[in-house]
Amino acid sequence: MTREVPELMDLTEHLFELDVYRSRGGYDAARKALGMSPVAVLAEVRDADLKGRGGAGFPAGVKWGFIPRDGKKPVYLCVNADEGEPGTFKDRWLLTHDPHLLLEGIIITAYAVGAHDGFIYVRGEYEAAALRLDRAIDEARAAGFLGEKIFGTEFGLDLTVFRGAGAYICGEETALLESLEGKRGEPRLKPPFPASVGLFRCPTVINNVETVSNVPRILRDGSEAFRKLGRPGDGGTRLFSVSGAVVKPGLYEVPVGAPLKGLIFEHAGGLPPGRTLKAVIPGGLSAPVLRADEIDLPLDGDSLFRAGSMIGSGAVIVIDDGTSMLDVLGIMTRFYAHESCGHCTPCRIGTSWMHKIVVRLASGNGNMEDIDGIARVASAIKGRTLCPMGDAAALSVLALVTKFRTEFGSRIEECRARNRSW
Ligand code: SF4
Repeated sequence: MTREVPELMDLTEHLFELDVYRSRGGYDAARKALGMSPVAVLAEVRDADLKGRGGAGFPAGVKWGFIPRDGKKPVYLCVNADEGEPGTFKDRWLLTHDPHLLLEGIIITAYAVGAHDGFIYVRGEYEAAALRLDRAIDEARAAGFLGEKIFGTEFGLDLTVFRGAGAYICGEETALLESLEGKRGEPRLKPPFPASVGLFRCPTVINNVETVSNVPRILRDGSEAFRKLGRPGDGGTRLFSVSGAVVKPGLYEVPVGAPLKGLIFEHAGGLPPGRTLKAVIPGGLSAPVLRADEIDLPLDGDSLFRAGSMIGSGAVIVIDDGTSMLDVLGIMTRFYAHESCGHCTPCRIGTSWMHKIVVRLASGNGNMEDIDGIARVASAIKGRTLCPMGDAAALSVLALVTKFRTEFGSRIEECRARNRSW
């Protein structure tokens, strides 16, 4: 695990303190929610069509509705801040720049599902984010927004920040639960789903940071206003982390369904002068790549799915004509080989096998039959693994070797000539 310098602890950090947040109406939505019934709060979020922002895109209100209300077992809330998808940095921004927004969303979410204990699972590398979150929790506790009798009601909530240790797989919800319980972070077989058998075998809601951070707005403005911001069945706005070959890489908030081209060419300033677009990975490294002629799409889950990709964690990686897709394939396969948890054979063996073939190609000792070999290995992984990482590795590699097959031929010849290696 690398520990980053807490560079965000700068002179502007007072901007993220409780007083500033409250001066903008912060915690008013939580106060309002605690004056409603939990069922009414849940209905408001369900009617807003808030889809999960972590990757799976499951509607948050529907997920909350699966939690039993029989009181037989405690209910837990886990916030997934283990943001590890390459290209994604939206949750990091929320944790460091708007931690009280997340805390307010947590209070409302916990109240709606009947949870009195919450956990925020923070990616191990996010040192500065975790420090700022700790401070925000202290502030909220001192103000009476966490702990017992919040806003003078009978509702109480305790929060614990849990630091991960740098494993990508712990972003998968059941591996996250295993890790929280102190075990090795490996996915569980589903069903049962966490809503019925989750943390410590109790009903558990697991939501991503951005998902929970949208909840105060829904309570403040109402479900209809939130829903109208987006598209039918997929309401609100989304944060997109834009990186790669653009003039202004960064984080952009646009309505769900905004054009992908507009995000790249207007908000992010387009490609640097003299460069042309070759490809876009629209939802983090796990999303199948789109060619330049395939990006005339709205940014919503259904549209990207129909185009053969996915919106994933909202990380848009822009690739220009100066980038070798063999290098992209090398980065991709190295990542999956490194991050496979090793639980199932097709993923454990297949991902490292694919990477070894790419390394051989890059060292000038391969040919186009190796590209076919990589495609065969990816096909053998697809649909045969315990968790979605196996499919993600297979589908993203398959899209790359299928759509850019012609380029691989010339790159392989170059590698043979240069006898290069990683
Ligand atoms: Fe682990 Fe890969 Fe199997 Fe997921 S698919 S459980 S990451 S070995």
